[in-house]
Amino acid sequence: MSKLSVKKGDRVEVITGKDKGKRGKILRAIPDKERVVIEGVNLIKRHSKPTQKNPQGGIVEREAPLHVSNVMVVCSSCNQPTRVGHRLSEEGRKVRVCRKCEGDIDKV
Ligand SMILES: [Zn+2]
Repeated sequence: MSKLSVKKGDRVEVITGKDKGKRGKILRAIPDKERVVIEGVNLIKRHSKPTQKNPQGGIVEREAPLHVSNVMVVCSSCNQPTRVGHRLSEEGRKVRVCRKCEGDIDKV
């Protein structure tokens, strides 16, 4: 199984590591590596050389990718981190549901 259960724009909570408990939005998903980049999470400091845009150079903070097993989707119905289930909607679309409250994870 290579497909991620999370996607860009999902709100997730970090469940392990130094950023445990932090929540953020997925900025980028990297399915090949099963990693995601989350807004404000797993920040690393990078030294940047002076450029025309930033003549001072200096230290910039940016998000480093995190393995998907370190995060859980936050359900928009019950606001808890949860495992993702699936059901078929009346239109036959696959809908992601919360295993905790059985509500839809994606608000329509
Ligand atoms: Zn829920």
